Amino acid sequence: MPNWTQPFKNLLNIFLQSNCPFCQRPTTREICLDCGRQLQQCHLKNPKALWKQPLPVFAWGKYDGMLKQAIAAMKYDNHPEIARVLGQYLGQAWLSHPPEDNSQPIVVPIPLHKTKLKERGYNQAALIAENFCLVTGLQLKPQGLQRNRQTTAQFSLSAQERQQNLTDAFSLGSGFRRLPKSPILLVDDIYTTGATAKSAIATLEKSGIQVCGLAAVARTAQGRGPRIY
Ligand SMILES: [Zn+2]
Repeated sequence: MPNWTQPFKNLLNIFLQSNCPFCQRPTTREICLDCGRQLQQCHLKNPKALWKQPLPVFAWGKYDGMLKQAIAAMKYDNHPEIARVLGQYLGQAWLSHPPEDNSQPIVVPIPLHKTKLKERGYNQAALIAENFCLVTGLQLKPQGLQRNRQTTAQFSLSAQERQQNLTDAFSLGSGFRRLPKSPILLVDDIYTTGATAKSAIATLEKSGIQVCGLAAVARTAQGRGPRIY
């Protein structure tokens, strides 16, 4: 009697394989092993180096090289699977370097405006937050915040213009009909000047909701604090 198991497994592997978004080689993972290793080199030794007032920031990696490329592919080249991988990395870093004041925060992703969401098809910060929560076991509130208006691309603006650009950019989402008992941890893909996070925090605090900090996949060299990576 022929053994059908192996041919079936081979066939299944063909269906489960996809191409690595960076090198295009076939892989059964979201990112192939080689590219995953290169991406891991962007990991900061101390992700909580900026975990201090007034805006505690927890960041997985340095916004440069392979990580910069990964974030661009995730946002502008239709690769939501990269957000899942980065969310898992961020979650693993959180578990291995937990902030001392960590009191099981509730996770809220920075939302996209609905026009942008429709255009992109997914919110990368929401996918990062979802996978961050799968790894850490923290509670996720995907509808904690709502983005009121489309803002100009932040990278083209000065720090002062960014703040202006983000004033009243958010409102409280449907996820908070009741005030949460734990503080909020915001999740975003990149931390640059903190203007987006500050605007989101102002919206939550106005409603009496406490925010303990921001967890971001990457931070730029312009981020606050010493430039130690
Ligand atoms: Zn690859």
